[in-house]
Amino acid sequence: MRFASLNFAGKERVGIVENDEVLLLPEGLADVADFIALGGDGRDLVAKLRRGDTAPRVALAQAVLLAPVRRFRRDIMCTGWNYWDHFEEGRGKREGQEVDRPKAPTFFSKGPGTVIGPTDDIAFDARISAKWDYEAELALVIGRAGRSIPASQALDHVFGYFLANDVSQRDLQRRHGGQWLKGKSIDDTMPMGPTVVTEDELEVPEIRLECLLNGQVMQSALVKQMAFSIPELIAELSFGMTLMPGDVIITGTPAGVGNAREPQIFMKAGDHVLVRGTGLGELSNRLVSRDLYGASDVPAMSAS
Ligand code: MG
Repeated sequence: MRFASLNFAGKERVGIVENDEVLLLPEGLADVADFIALGGDGRDLVAKLRRGDTAPRVALAQAVLLAPVRRFRRDIMCTGWNYWDHFEEGRGKREGQEVDRPKAPTFFSKGPGTVIGPTDDIAFDARISAKWDYEAELALVIGRAGRSIPASQALDHVFGYFLANDVSQRDLQRRHGGQWLKGKSIDDTMPMGPTVVTEDELEVPEIRLECLLNGQVMQSALVKQMAFSIPELIAELSFGMTLMPGDVIITGTPAGVGNAREPQIFMKAGDHVLVRGTGLGELSNRLVSRDLYGASDVPAMSAS
């Protein structure tokens, strides 16, 4: 099934996308995470609605898809360096922050204020960063709570999969003690969606993940090229730390980022960036100038 958060007739709703229609779930659910929180009651509700002929179905074209998860109980959890070709392309380009190949997954987090919908504009301000980069990623949302989840059971805790563009500000990423939070948390810069797809509709390792900048393919890789598989990521992240229903994890980006290219390529206002994945649809977003700088007295970032 494909679950969506959407705006229909001026209201935020949750629905199940079936071809070019949406089966609307009852009002009062703010996003797909709200549906996940219903647990078994949610599954019963869907079964009942699908059996009945009174289920409200509307044309997908009449709805605007929103980020599937928008109300977070905590940060989005993120994976760094999870495709070895991406780790290797960055060698010598980490401005004094070089490390050896990690033996366990690298995790960091991103603020929820980053999240935007699958076709929303990405906020852009050259004063905040001179190094705007794209990162196509497979995202997942947790469906069942767990701590110290064995890898062999990890997929039982996943509700479904979608796409994210982990737009990053490389200068901010380097500037703050080698910690990535700041360079990954600029408001309204991470498109997510378009729908949450359950595993039965996907062959996850065979998903081809791609990023196109102004129509040109910049990244293209299969999910099975990940350094640490999704079960390994969940086992390591949940080690002594409870993952909750509705938690979102993004799983790393493959090679081809702009920062590692020669010459480097950074995004600017007016650029169009598209992320797509087999069976998952696409995120299609334009960078649009917005005043993120305001009255700041931090010096504007510069390209040098
Ligand atoms: Mg990333």
